[in-house]
Amino acid sequence: MATLASLALRAPMRILIVFFALLIGAVSASAPTAAQQDAPPAATVKRIASDLYFFFDYAGSNSVFLVTNDGVLVIDTRQHPQAGQELITEIRKITDKPIRWVINSHFHGDHTFGNAAFQAAGAKFIAQQETQRIMQKVQPKEMARRQSYFKSHNYDPNEVKLILPDVTFDKDMTVWLGGREVRLMYLGPGQQDGDTFVYFPHAHALFTPGSFATRNIPNMAFTTSVDSWINLLERVAGMKGVDRILPAHGDVATGADVREFAAMLRDEYTTVKAAADKGVSLEEAQRTLTFPQYKDWRNYGRIKEEIASIYELIKTGRRSYFE
Ligand SMILES: [Zn+2]
Repeated sequence: MATLASLALRAPMRILIVFFALLIGAVSASAPTAAQQDAPPAATVKRIASDLYFFFDYAGSNSVFLVTNDGVLVIDTRQHPQAGQELITEIRKITDKPIRWVINSHFHGDHTFGNAAFQAAGAKFIAQQETQRIMQKVQPKEMARRQSYFKSHNYDPNEVKLILPDVTFDKDMTVWLGGREVRLMYLGPGQQDGDTFVYFPHAHALFTPGSFATRNIPNMAFTTSVDSWINLLERVAGMKGVDRILPAHGDVATGADVREFAAMLRDEYTTVKAAADKGVSLEEAQRTLTFPQYKDWRNYGRIKEEIASIYELIKTGRRSYFE
């Protein structure tokens, strides 16, 4: 797996500051500046197979692209048309073949708001039918919760357009492109309804949507069934012919990472459910259930919100985000 390109996609001003600091000799190797410490890691393109690439953006969201003689297939378009355009620029460093297909793996704006750039490039869009339904329904809310991201990147929110799939599917679907087989699978509700897994048999690689991220405390506000979510992760962890997991967030992972994440989810859910079933108030649950064993996991800081989201689901069956 080679790193093909190292991109400075973010915070160009910080890079300029570091550059000038270097010029005046203010930076030594042993004493990095605040600017260096603050800068998010640059996005990179990793080659997974001869024709399969993983666009890894730790600070944002990932994408995957398959390059064939008959064109390119892309999974997820990042969080704004400009960010989508940066991904297209990376694809264009590798191939000038047309971008034929985009798969939107789930409804979140950090995976679909770059769609306009790919539509302009001539791509057609595929998503699970629940993803289409939810995208239509929650566009204003998705826009609202990403305004600070747009501001911090100097992105114009007005450039974001709701671009819905041209093709939808229910359980599974296969795309053939340039002799390669791409299998889309809907295994039931995960982090949200519509969560789509994509298997590349020739590369023994599986793309996972929001349902999985290595050692990460996930947002629990969208799931309609944590049991279904845990079950599908256990299925995925044991899937034959999968050597590498390409997640929507975080670096390339393995089945063992998926199993570890599923175990955490089961632990968090059963612990919170036991408290709710015993009549423990939300406030007390948030105060006493601190899950210190996960304090090193990404997004541990939002554990109280996640307990509240699980309480909402258990006590009311509601998912207020979709109302
Ligand atoms: Zn995301």
